[in-house]
Amino acid sequence: MKLVAVGTMMAETEAEARIAVPMDVDGSAATRAEPDDADTEVDATRSLTTDHRNSVARPVVASPPFSLCDTRSGTSLGGGRCLNVGRGSRRSLHQPSISVSVADLNEENIVKAVRLHQYGEHPVIEEVAEPQITGPWDVIVDVGAAGLCRTDLHIIEGQWDPIQHPSLPYILGHENAGWVREVGSAVHNVKVGDTVIMHPLTSCGLCPACRIGQDSHCENATFPGINVDGGMAQQLLTNARAVVKLDEGLRPQDVAALADAGLTAYHAVRKAADVLFPGTHAVVVGAGGLGHIGIQALAAITSATITVVDRSEGALELARTLGAHHTVLATDDATVEKHVLDITNGGANVVFDFVGERGAELLAPRLLRNRGSHYVIGYGGAVSLPTIDIISREINVIGNLVGTYNDLVELMTLTAQGRVTLHTAVYPMDAALDAIADLDAGRLIGRGILVP
Ligand SMILES: [Zn+2]
Ligand SMILES: [Zn+2]
Repeated sequence: MKLVAVGTMMAETEAEARIAVPMDVDGSAATRAEPDDADTEVDATRSLTTDHRNSVARPVVASPPFSLCDTRSGTSLGGGRCLNVGRGSRRSLHQPSISVSVADLNEENIVKAVRLHQYGEHPVIEEVAEPQITGPWDVIVDVGAAGLCRTDLHIIEGQWDPIQHPSLPYILGHENAGWVREVGSAVHNVKVGDTVIMHPLTSCGLCPACRIGQDSHCENATFPGINVDGGMAQQLLTNARAVVKLDEGLRPQDVAALADAGLTAYHAVRKAADVLFPGTHAVVVGAGGLGHIGIQALAAITSATITVVDRSEGALELARTLGAHHTVLATDDATVEKHVLDITNGGANVVFDFVGERGAELLAPRLLRNRGSHYVIGYGGAVSLPTIDIISREINVIGNLVGTYNDLVELMTLTAQGRVTLHTAVYPMDAALDAIADLDAGRLIGRGILVP
């Protein structure tokens, strides 16, 4: 496993996705495995708050004498070992939690979870205290499925520690769906038993970003599975603003991974949809895990002619089945540029760069027509554009970060309509380490999904 720096929040790249996500509609492998050095590097600057819940473990093997811990002060209230004291500087709507000793717990208070204890070591499948409702907006979900992606490998390697600084041990899993188990006193948008998918962030609803619907930029969010306990467990603590009620026909295991990769791809397409009216051209660079969702979203919500560029014939074949009108095999940049400019009659209105590195970030602006926009979704490289090109061609470079709550609602609507599909490989949660090993080795066909 090669160590790489981790980028902003949830954006996964095609480099990740090609390893994990063949996603052929007939179930056969369509995309190729990339060497791990195809992974991305980027300076990440974002940091979210830390909130520590569900913080007392009962390891399967050893049971140290845990005691009551005050997570605000970090002091042990009972004289025993105090676990998981928070390091976060701010808190969300959640109130600080008080942990309880496992000695006080019945079997009903225990849930199985996949927890990371030490960077560079395998996570541990163990029993932990179930989460508790402590705030009026809290929601506890019986997890139906938790997606596994390369971000989890990066977390295990320690890439995210300086960015999100979770307090170890904590539960992995940032792509989660399931059924509402319990709600706080103020929650009225979902009820017990509802099938739900979780927006990746538990946003506050009160900050300026939340006021304009930009959940991913919430100033007070937690990020389950990244900086607090996530969904690779039988239960997950989230909040009312994060839960999207699902159509009855959707199963958690079929949609969980859309909470991350799918949402990121959809968000970019949704932002560009207004300028992709009939007669316009959209170019997709990279047709792997994010890109193949982007193609389906383009076909579903825009009238643009869709051209897909990828190094893999298999990925291009899949792209054609998902709605691509034209495909271009990525050979040398000059050849690709010529083909794309021919197909698009002078360049794309929007290029969606799902790779963002290895030269794709430099090629993308060359595929634009005047006034076109380069949507950056994959990451790792650096965009370099002469300012005179920017002004004389009036071209734009636009960043994209996960997606809004409403984006997720819309994506779930498309999924319920059968217009966006995701190929998955389901593992029982007890086989989480096998799934992680398969993903790391490039053996995993489809998106890995853990089912408790
Ligand atoms: Zn992910
Ligand atoms: Zn907020």
